[in-house]
Amino acid sequence: MASRGVFLDLTADPVDLTRQLVDIESVSGNEGPLADRIEAALRPYGHLEVIRDGNVIIARTNLGRAERVVIAGHIDTVPVAGNLPSWTTGSGDALIIWGRGTCDMKGGVAVQLSLAVALTEPVRDVTWICYDNEEVEADLNGLGRIGREHPDYLAGSFGILCEPSNARIEGGCQGTLRAEIRLTGQAAHSARSWRGHNAIHDAAEVLRRLASYQPREPVVDGLTYHEGLNAVGITGGIAGNVIPDSCTVTVNYRFAPDLDSSQAAAHVRQVFTGFDLVITDLAPGARPGLELPAAAEFCSVVGGTPQAKLGWTDVARFSELGVPAVNFGPGDPSKAHADDECCPAADVVACHAALLRWLSEPAGAGSG
Ligand SMILES: [Zn+2]
Repeated sequence: MASRGVFLDLTADPVDLTRQLVDIESVSGNEGPLADRIEAALRPYGHLEVIRDGNVIIARTNLGRAERVVIAGHIDTVPVAGNLPSWTTGSGDALIIWGRGTCDMKGGVAVQLSLAVALTEPVRDVTWICYDNEEVEADLNGLGRIGREHPDYLAGSFGILCEPSNARIEGGCQGTLRAEIRLTGQAAHSARSWRGHNAIHDAAEVLRRLASYQPREPVVDGLTYHEGLNAVGITGGIAGNVIPDSCTVTVNYRFAPDLDSSQAAAHVRQVFTGFDLVITDLAPGARPGLELPAAAEFCSVVGGTPQAKLGWTDVARFSELGVPAVNFGPGDPSKAHADDECCPAADVVACHAALLRWLSEPAGAGSG
């Protein structure tokens, strides 16, 4: 049940609501009190079916619309750095909200909750999702858990993740693959090195292939991605007088969403043909799906030119379930996790206005 004391007012201005959410600390693992308050605040609204599952809260309309969209955000933050409770500077259009979670991503959650209660009859059915444990190990991620246990809760034709994107649309996301290239030699005393085989020297060929690698910049669904294949670590050697018998080069491949996981793995294996390669981590990207009617209408309401999302985000979890998704939320992503985390109030207002319009206007109206 909801803790007594602080109640959220979801009818407040979304900028005020951002501050209400920020001031309830919810570092990953401690989302419970905030989840309780969000649930309690949503329950009274008869147009919403509210589902609580752990610290995930789902509120959805069931109006029988032709289309359902999923709009999600995480309610946890990274640890506080002396930056709570929130404060503001400036005023009017230049108002800035400061504090942990303002950018990543309670501004986005405030937009969601404000619209969830205000839009009693959206033109598209909406599934609003607030989830936990985004900022920690992937196995704990609330959206991932719901996707595994109740994929039907995430069903929809289009998804929006309200992660900070400067209130602009960032489509899809690139995938990420990490692999270890394990080189094996033969140990020997370095005074008689010809009796051994130096595994670190063998890394030279691995590094040569990386240095000469030409990353692709493919256009996927109209957005230009930019791949990269890089060494991100190298280990080897046990002592200053021993020829090393092992060396491991760790590489990270960031791949555009026109490749699936197995194609990305095959590509990396091909680049390093002849070497012992073990894939240690692999998360697929997500296509932006901007050619879909719902997405195209969303782009026309938001305006500007959508960009490709180069980092990996939870939009890929939608993609795995066949739901194309974009990132769209208030705040500059470079302020996420920063000690001087902040969010321009104007971004919150802009995201709120764009989503309100997209969910209130009949399909096909208001383009331009
Ligand atoms: Zn985030």
